[in-house]
Amino acid sequence: MRLRGVRRYHWARDVDEALSLLAAYQGKGALLAGGVDLARSPRTDLEGLIDITGIGLTYLRAEAAGLRLGATTTLAEVLGHPQAEGYAGGILRETLRQVAYPALRHMATLGGAVVSAHPWADIPTLLVALGAEVRYRSAEGEKRAPLEDLYGTDFRRVFRESVLLEVVLPAWAGAFAFEKIGRNAGDIALLNVCAGLGLVEGRIAWARVAVGGRPERGERLPWLEGMLVGERPSPALWERAAEEVRARLEVGSDRRASAEWRREVAGVLVRRALLRAAGKAALCASTSS
Ligand SMILES: Cc1cc2nc3c(=O)[nH]c(=O)nc-3n(C[C@H](O)[C@H](O)[C@H](O)COP(=O)(O)OP(=O)(O)OC[C@H]3O[C@@H](n4cnc5c(N)ncnc54)[C@H](O)[C@@H]3O)c2cc1C
Repeated sequence: MRLRGVRRYHWARDVDEALSLLAAYQGKGALLAGGVDLARSPRTDLEGLIDITGIGLTYLRAEAAGLRLGATTTLAEVLGHPQAEGYAGGILRETLRQVAYPALRHMATLGGAVVSAHPWADIPTLLVALGAEVRYRSAEGEKRAPLEDLYGTDFRRVFRESVLLEVVLPAWAGAFAFEKIGRNAGDIALLNVCAGLGLVEGRIAWARVAVGGRPERGERLPWLEGMLVGERPSPALWERAAEEVRARLEVGSDRRASAEWRREVAGVLVRRALLRAAGKAALCASTSS
């Protein structure tokens, strides 16, 4: 039986209370959001669960600088939010509707997805491509960091002592597209790709490409982004990008897919994502001019 050591369930009223309960358990307590991941945790040392769904972190706000999404906002709430709809070419809806299935999306929170950050998960790939920053608070005070940087550290240890408050997404003059391949529609990814670009006078002004499930967690490909900037979108450019990916992407084998298969398919997914992102970006550029 999982979590068999748990004896107490707390309903935190605010961030401070959640933090002081966490501190009181000295490593034997855990924050509980949607519970989708925690319920499957093999941890037998946990004695207390601290429910954080009532501490005021369920919101989505659009600002000139981008979007702010509270950590306990569920994936379904983001999907259904009118202000998420047009963000960066509709990338939030496009990605989140490919995450698991509706029942799970009504429980799972964005914050839980950021912290659990499975290597095959789609949300880290999405957020890293989008340049998301996270705001979190510990007993030492509040911090803000690019998620990409945090994932390069022992971030799970950070979140054993901190409450993730919100995810901040910058505004992008351009569009993103997401591609995922699994065994069926509700499956976790064998590989996922999020690519975005912006166009100025028909040329690529910026590009962002992240690939996840390699089988490692989603990471950006700066060498590919650099190759795209300054070029004009064309089928030949997307094919060149696919070739670069096949030649240079670091992939590995696990029980779900071989490295050879991942290398080949990553090229296809990157080409498709770039093609679709460019189509959406062209539409954004024509409607804003
Ligand atoms: C069957 C299944 C299918 C899935 N399919 C996909 C998929 O297709 N694509 C994909 O991207 N993901 C998928 N996931 C992963 C899923 O998105 C995450 O498990 C989910 O978002 C976790 O959110 P939660 O609110 O349930 O987290 P919880 O289970 O409540 O918490 C998870 C961890 O995060 C910590 N935590 C939660 N919130 C905070 C916070 N605010 N601050 C600090 N720590 C916090 C908890 O203490 C715990 O350690 C799948 C998961 C399952 C179980």
